[in-house]
Amino acid sequence: MAAPVDPIDIQPRQVANKADKKALLEAIRMTLGVQSAAIRHNTQTFNRNRYDAVARIADYDAMKDRARGIKESAIANLPELLQQLESSVRANGGHFFLAKFAADANRYIRDVLVKHEVKLVVKGKSITSEETRLNHSLEEVGIKVAESDLAEFILQVADEQPSHIIAPALHYSRERITALFKRKFQTGLPLDTGEALTQFAREILRQQFIAADAGISGANLIAADSGSLMLVESEGNIRMTTLLPPVHIAIAGIEKVVPSRADFQPFIELLPASATGQPLTSYVSILRPPLSAASFAAPGKSTKPREFHLVLIDNGRSGMREDPILHEALYCIRCSACLNVCANFETVGGHAFGGETYSGGIGGAWEAGTGKLMNARFSELCTGCQRCLPQCPVRIDIPWVNQNLRHRINQADGASPAKSFFGSLTGSAPGDRTAPLPKQFFANYHTFGEWGSRFALLSNDSAHMPAVRTFMASVLGIDPRRELPPFPKKTWEQMFREEAQTAKASDAGVRVAMLADTFTNYGSPERGMAAVRVLRAIGVDVVLTPSIPDGRAALSQGMIDTAREHARALAKMLQPYLDSGRKIAVLEPSVLAMLRLDCKHLLDSHDLIASLAANSFEPLEMVWDTAQQQGIDLAEIFPARKSHLGTKLFYHSHCQQRTCNAASQTIDVLRAAGFDVVTSSVECCGMAGSFGYKSDYFDLSMAVGEDLIAQVRQCESDGTPRVLVTSGTSCHEQLLAGMGRVSLHPTEVLGSTLYM
Ligand code: SF4
Ligand code: SF4
Repeated sequence: MAAPVDPIDIQPRQVANKADKKALLEAIRMTLGVQSAAIRHNTQTFNRNRYDAVARIADYDAMKDRARGIKESAIANLPELLQQLESSVRANGGHFFLAKFAADANRYIRDVLVKHEVKLVVKGKSITSEETRLNHSLEEVGIKVAESDLAEFILQVADEQPSHIIAPALHYSRERITALFKRKFQTGLPLDTGEALTQFAREILRQQFIAADAGISGANLIAADSGSLMLVESEGNIRMTTLLPPVHIAIAGIEKVVPSRADFQPFIELLPASATGQPLTSYVSILRPPLSAASFAAPGKSTKPREFHLVLIDNGRSGMREDPILHEALYCIRCSACLNVCANFETVGGHAFGGETYSGGIGGAWEAGTGKLMNARFSELCTGCQRCLPQCPVRIDIPWVNQNLRHRINQADGASPAKSFFGSLTGSAPGDRTAPLPKQFFANYHTFGEWGSRFALLSNDSAHMPAVRTFMASVLGIDPRRELPPFPKKTWEQMFREEAQTAKASDAGVRVAMLADTFTNYGSPERGMAAVRVLRAIGVDVVLTPSIPDGRAALSQGMIDTAREHARALAKMLQPYLDSGRKIAVLEPSVLAMLRLDCKHLLDSHDLIASLAANSFEPLEMVWDTAQQQGIDLAEIFPARKSHLGTKLFYHSHCQQRTCNAASQTIDVLRAAGFDVVTSSVECCGMAGSFGYKSDYFDLSMAVGEDLIAQVRQCESDGTPRVLVTSGTSCHEQLLAGMGRVSLHPTEVLGSTLYM
C-alpha cells in the first residue's frame, strides 16, 4: 500500500489531470488540508449574494428562459453565425481566424505577435487561453505574458491552474497570498492587508500595461451581425488590455457567438447576479474593434496603428454540438452559480472538483468535450444533489450531464467476469454491468434491502462482524467508519398491512397512494408509518404501494440503463393509482426528485411524465396544502405543547426537497402546530445518498457536514437543546455520524402530538 501523501506536499498542477482516480483522491486530501477554509468563505459569500441578487430581478424566470432561448438558437445556427461574424469582423477592418484545435490558435497568435516583434503582452482573464495553454506557447518563443487580472496574476506567480471559473485564485486566503508574494518577490513590505497586496500588484501591473505591445482578452459574448464583443469584469484590467496596446487579440470559444448585440441584454443582468451577486458588475464593455481612438504610447514613443484579431477556437466544440449530452454545456455562460451553490465544491474547490482548466459541476462536460472523457473523472464529486438545477441562468441540467458522464466512464472502465456476475445477481441492466462493484451495489440496494430484511437479525449481527466490514470495505468500497443502518424486523409494507385494519376513515376527500420507497421500507418503516398517521389525522385516505426499485439509486451511480428500467417499472406500477384519482405521496426527497425532475429523462410518454411530476408530493407539502384548502387548524390537530419531545426544533431540509420547492411547507406546518423551528442554511449535509458511505469520499462527506453541525451547535449555544429534525434518510445518517445524535422526521414530530 502506498504511503499516505502529506497534503502540503502536493502542488495543484501535479493533480490537475484526474484521469487516474489516485490523482482525484490526492487532490481531495490537498484541498481539505490547505485550501478549504478560504474556498468555503469565498464561495458561500458569492452564494448568499446570488440569492439576494436574483430575488431582486423581477422577471428572473422569464429572463432565464430568454437567455436559454438565445443560446439554443445560436448553437443551432452556429455555422451560419460564424460566417456572418467573419464578414462583420473583416468589414470592421479586423482579422478573423477560426482554429480547429488549441495548437492552431496558439500558432496563429504567436505568429501575429512575432510579426509585430512583441516582447511583452498583457492578458485579461481568459479561461479559453488556459484551455489552449497559450502562455506556455508564447513563452517558448520568448514572449513574456503578464496576467493583468489580480487573481490570474497570483496564479501566475504561484504557477497554479485556476480553481474557479470566475475567481481563479479563490482558494487563496489573504495570509497565503502575503506569504507567496514575500517569497517570490523577496520583499520586506508587510503586505498584511488586502489593500496592501492589491497596491503591490497594481504597481507591477501598471508598468506592464505601459510597456506592453499587445493585449489579449477573452469575450463573454460576440455579436455576429456587428462583430461586437461583450466583456464583463470587476477590475477594469480587461478594459485597459483592450484599449491601451495597439494590437488587440480576442480569443474565445465558438459557443460565445450570438446573433446580435440585442442578445447581450439578459446576460448583462444574469451574469453578474449569478456570479458574484452584483446587480451589475463594475465594468461592462461593448466594443467593436479595431477601435478608432489612438492607442496608448509611453512618453517619448510614437503611437502605433491599431490592429485587431478575433481568434475563435473549436477544439472539440463541434463534436459537443453533435453530442446529445455534451451540447448542453455549450449553453454555459460561465457564471459559476453551479460552483458556488455546490456543497462539495464549497468544501474542496476546483483543484479537486475540477480538471486542468474547467471546474465544478459543469466542468466535467467541458474537460470531456475539449479533451478526453477520462479527464472528467472528477465529476464523480457531483453527488446529484440537484441544488445547482434552479440556479443555472440557462437551465442546464448539470446533474443529468454528470450522470451521463459517469455512465460513459463506467462503460470505458471495461467489463470483467466479477462485474458481470455481480450485476446479473443484483439486477443491473446488461448495459450497466461494466460499472464497478460498489456502484452496482448501491444502484441495486433494493435487492439487498429485500433480502436483508427477510433475515434481519442475521443481517444486522453480521454487519458488525469485522470480517464482513473488511469485505464490504475492500469489495464494495464502504467506509468502515460509517455505521450501516440496521434492517428492520418488519418492513413498512408489513407494518402498514397490520395497521390498516384500525385506520380511521377518510373525510378530507383527498386520496393518496404513499410510495413505499426502498429506504423507508427497508430502513425506517417507523417514519413511513408516522407519515401515514399524520396524513390520516387530517382525514386523508392512504394506501401504500408495493415497494419496488425506483431508479434514483441507479441514476446516481451513472447506471442509466438500470435507472431507465426501474423508472419504467415504477411508472407502470403508479399509473393505476393516478388513473383512479390518487395523488402520490413520497417520503424520501430523492425519490420525489426522481418523479418530479428525473423521469423526463427516463420515460417516453410525455403525458405520464407530466402526470407524475404534477401529482407527486412530499407528505407535509400535502398536509399544508390540504389544511390551507380546507381551513384545517393544524394547532388543533397537532398541538405542539402535547409533544413529549418539547417544542424546540432544529430542522434541516433535504437538498432535493428544496430543489423540488417542497421544503418550506414542512416549516409552515411545524410552526402552525406551535413548534419553535430554527432551520439550517447549508445547501447539503454532505451525505448525499451513497456518497458518504464510500471510503474514497468519507472525509470529504464529513468535511461538508461540518457546516451543518456548526449551525446546530450555534443555535444550541444558549444552553437549550433542540430536537434534530431531518427530512432525508441520508441527512439523518450524517448527523448520527457527525454528532452521535438521532434526528426525527417531521412526521414523527407531528405524530408525537397525536397519542398523548
Ligand atoms: S448536483 Fe449537487 S453536487 Fe452535483 S454539481 Fe450540482 S450542486 Fe454540485
Ligand atoms: S452551468 Fe449554468 S450555472 Fe454553471 S457556470 Fe454554466 S451557466 Fe453558470
